[in-house]
Amino acid sequence: MLKFDIKKKDGLARVGTIYTPHGDIKTPAFVGAATRATVKALTMQEMRDLGSQAILANTYHLILRPGADLIKEASGLAEFSSWHGPTFTDSGGFQIFSLPDVKITENGARFRSYIDGSKFEMTPESSMQNQWAIGADIHMAFDHLAKSESRKDMEKAMRRTHDWLDRCVEENEKLKKEAKKNNQPEQYLYAVVQGGTFNDLRAESAKYCASKNVDGFGIGGVFTANGMAEMLKTVNSILPEDKPRHLLGMGQEPIDLFDGAENGCDTFDCVGPTRMARNGSLYTYDGRINIKNAKYTHDFTPIMPDCDCECCKNYTRAYLHHLFRTDEITAKVLASIHNEHFVVSVTNKIRESILDETFKDYKKSFLERYYG
Ligand SMILES: [Zn+2]
Repeated sequence: MLKFDIKKKDGLARVGTIYTPHGDIKTPAFVGAATRATVKALTMQEMRDLGSQAILANTYHLILRPGADLIKEASGLAEFSSWHGPTFTDSGGFQIFSLPDVKITENGARFRSYIDGSKFEMTPESSMQNQWAIGADIHMAFDHLAKSESRKDMEKAMRRTHDWLDRCVEENEKLKKEAKKNNQPEQYLYAVVQGGTFNDLRAESAKYCASKNVDGFGIGGVFTANGMAEMLKTVNSILPEDKPRHLLGMGQEPIDLFDGAENGCDTFDCVGPTRMARNGSLYTYDGRINIKNAKYTHDFTPIMPDCDCECCKNYTRAYLHHLFRTDEITAKVLASIHNEHFVVSVTNKIRESILDETFKDYKKSFLERYYG
């Protein structure tokens, strides 16, 4: 079993440590989105320097290129990418079910590679085999994404996700035994809770996942911005307290970090912070700014004066504005360093505030200033 200690609790919120074969994750933690085994525009050294503790890659993208076997040959994701720290893989279900020509059966999903048109089939078993080959510390079960947000589709997707979870668990046990026989490091499986925006379906899914032999839980699928906190409360009140929970692809808004932590999630990931950075949209404690805006042409202050990231310590808004206007690669690098550092450090502060029992005050003051 994946070792997870809880140091402090406040309602559903908790502070803890997840112990993986590649190192510890102090939670709550923001996990960097390294979809193709890289965080866009950032080196792994830059990720370490800005305080990131873990990365999450996507199985779907990696099996298409460079292939799970190649990553296995390189001794796994952490070594291949030179990250060397704790790693997660998402199953890729979300991406596969969003493809226009995907064919879904009880067995799994058939699709063509967007790179060369070659045929692929992903089943719960092959998802587990691929994730073991990629070698992340923590895997997500292969889940089914609903084709619409209707109750009927959500319920159908949830039931199939549950059937597939049983097959993932069975295959995972086989792969675990094989790895043990070969003296390979252990890898861990999270079940994925589905149910969309329907609280009763979420509760049913949480109960189902909680009854399975898994090491933790991912919370996936769609949720409306306003309904997320309520849904997480429902789910995390049911999931066993002693196993970690990961909020898959949460929103890019800082309020999601607060809602997620307050309602019992331990780790989060989102491509939003780096994606927005590449477009020149940067977080500050007073809300997001668009650095391409003409008003920053002569602004010789940092993006955020009280930020200790490499970008804010060394460069001005005017300089970043110039880099974006001239389409320099460095613009995307510096902006990504700042945004990723922002979400990592806000999550660190959330952890500290739960520890010293000031979470509610911190949340209130942060949100009041950020959202005006
Ligand atoms: Zn900064």
